[in-house]
Amino acid sequence: MGLLFPNSAVAVLADQKTADIFKGTVIKHGFEFIQVQNLQLGAYRLQKVLPQLIVLDSDVPDFNEHSLRLLIEKNPNVKNIPVLLLSRSNGNFEYLQNKFDLDLKIVDRKQHKDITAEIEKYLQPCIILKFWGVRGSAPSANAEYMKYGGNTTCVQIESPIHDDILILDCGTGIRNLGNEIAERIQNQASGHLFITHPHWDHIQGFPFFKPFYHSKNRFRIHMPEQYRGGTEEILSGHMTKTFFPVTLDMFEADIEYVTQSEEMQHYNGFTLEYMVANHPTKTAMYKIQIGGYVIVFAPDNELNEDPTPIRFNDRFEHFISNCDLLIHDGQFDKEMYKNRVGWGHSSWEATVELARRNHVKRLYLTHHDPDSTDEILDRISKKLEQYQNNPFADIRLAKEGAVIKLPLQKSVSAYKK
Ligand SMILES: [Zn+2]
Ligand SMILES: [Zn+2]
Repeated sequence: MGLLFPNSAVAVLADQKTADIFKGTVIKHGFEFIQVQNLQLGAYRLQKVLPQLIVLDSDVPDFNEHSLRLLIEKNPNVKNIPVLLLSRSNGNFEYLQNKFDLDLKIVDRKQHKDITAEIEKYLQPCIILKFWGVRGSAPSANAEYMKYGGNTTCVQIESPIHDDILILDCGTGIRNLGNEIAERIQNQASGHLFITHPHWDHIQGFPFFKPFYHSKNRFRIHMPEQYRGGTEEILSGHMTKTFFPVTLDMFEADIEYVTQSEEMQHYNGFTLEYMVANHPTKTAMYKIQIGGYVIVFAPDNELNEDPTPIRFNDRFEHFISNCDLLIHDGQFDKEMYKNRVGWGHSSWEATVELARRNHVKRLYLTHHDPDSTDEILDRISKKLEQYQNNPFADIRLAKEGAVIKLPLQKSVSAYKK
């Protein structure tokens, strides 16, 4: 069962006649078909479900900015769900994408074949990644940071090939993920937590992960060996009575601590290896192969024109070459970086340049500086648009709550063999 989209539903805000055009397609793919006649009803109906896709007909009687705002206010998750807007030929709705910060795709409502083809794309089984925390260094909870989010690093990967929950880093973002797991799958959770390194911003949420406190859950926690010890020693040092009232032995779940080696390891449904980052403590940049995709996760890594040792850049370029998705440190811009050389973080410009040179297909910049407000990040985001579709299939700033979907190229059963 999927955790991210447990209902496997498509929400359709359209009249019966329009809905009938693609109802069969949705049901054929095993999705529940939820239809309401207008936006107002949709605002309340969606509070009970988390659909994979929203199909919205611009011909519903209350299609206007006021009703759209209500829908989003009642369902903040709508911002992370793709919306397929069926548009009249004279409708110019592109502006809604920016105005409401939506993942919006527009199709002509008269082109029935196009509508069905678009919907089918969204219903393919996918590897899904979700950002639960994208902030670097320290959480930033101020109002002017809320569009991109204030929690520190945490990413979840979900795959239809197996039920294990994959988690990358446990910054403060992991708390919300844990609450979601506790609520949705209660106490049968099992999975892996791969920690890149034990700097505060990557482990601060660790003791607040609810599934650790139930005996039926099972997790393996991985981290590269540190100067002062392996995974268990480092985490127990962080959780002594001086710093926190709970110690590791008070967790109820079945937990195994793994000190991770760089070599490729095979797990149920995926492989994982890592390269050590250019960062002040031993830090993993994880490479995960899952569902036919290569994903590299490197939230803390300094790209420097004058690296020491010099071979680091060559090795890293080889490591990310042609990967399908790179999630990389872009904490600063070029100007900020000049005064922060050696801090272990990169400018977004250097990251884009390196990714481009090495034919990375999708690039997400993360570990946003705690002083970068939404306004600052919006400006960077605007600059990234020039690279969208050329050379990158996708390039964005990571945003808390955002989801990346990578459709499987083969059937789920083909990967299980
Ligand atoms: Zn960090
Ligand atoms: Zn760090």
